[in-house]
Amino acid sequence: MEHGLIAEGSTLEQLATGGTWNEGPLWIPEERVVRWSDIPGNRIMRWDAATGETSVHRSEVEFTNGRMRDRDGSVVQCSHGRRRLERESAEGELTELVAHWGEHRLNSPNDVALAPDGSFWFTDPDYGIRQPREGHPGEREYGDCRVFRWSEADGLTSVIDDIVRPNGIAFSPDGTTVYVSDTAAALDDGPGHWIRAYDVHGATASGGRHFASIEVGLSDGIAVDVDGRVWSSAGDGVHVYSSSGEELLFIPVPEVVANLCFGGDDGDELFIAATASLYRIRTTTREARFL
Ligand code: MG
Repeated sequence: MEHGLIAEGSTLEQLATGGTWNEGPLWIPEERVVRWSDIPGNRIMRWDAATGETSVHRSEVEFTNGRMRDRDGSVVQCSHGRRRLERESAEGELTELVAHWGEHRLNSPNDVALAPDGSFWFTDPDYGIRQPREGHPGEREYGDCRVFRWSEADGLTSVIDDIVRPNGIAFSPDGTTVYVSDTAAALDDGPGHWIRAYDVHGATASGGRHFASIEVGLSDGIAVDVDGRVWSSAGDGVHVYSSSGEELLFIPVPEVVANLCFGGDDGDELFIAATASLYRIRTTTREARFL
């Protein structure tokens, strides 16, 4: 393929199928597995790189969605059903990180990214409180839908409030830009079917601007590689953009793509959560992460 971003000879492989709506993939290097959420199935799945087998990691998980590794190897994940950000330790113990902004409950945290300062930034649209198959019906207690920053030291702060339905989130390699997708068009909440970019100043963000529009479907999840390219999900596959927003590559996928991550032993395998399935394609790059 063009631009040399796909490893020579690599083609899209279907690794697993049989899910309902797959989201939130994450490579766990110690286990050599991809862990992801089957949201309506209310379970977390795992695909084992050693055996190629798929199994249930946990069930009755209160509709988890996106997840990210912390520096200690634990996993921080979003739960629609518990309306919170939570941590799953390497031993499998679950603890709540944050569920309230002031006196109000969060909506239904959707996707999370680790910032260079060790804080977690996450999106909080309302899909998990208005779509019964993805959570429990409820109210938007604080009114709109925001992007929040959470750290143990600072607690919860609102960092972005001008996206109608914030969804996917990822930082640039130097941590000075955060990309957030708007999926408002999904349920006719607004025109949003695009990715926005913001300048990051430590614990705040400003200078929001349009980065790229997704023309088929939505940008539900995004990942940024070590050279600053933005890899986005879409209705027709994966679209890759330069840091200036120029489209570099399109990877067609036969199912609607929800989210993606890099992983594998060399970090160069792109794992794609797409509707019922998990796919893989080998690339020539790696994900930018602050671990
Ligand atoms: Mg999402």
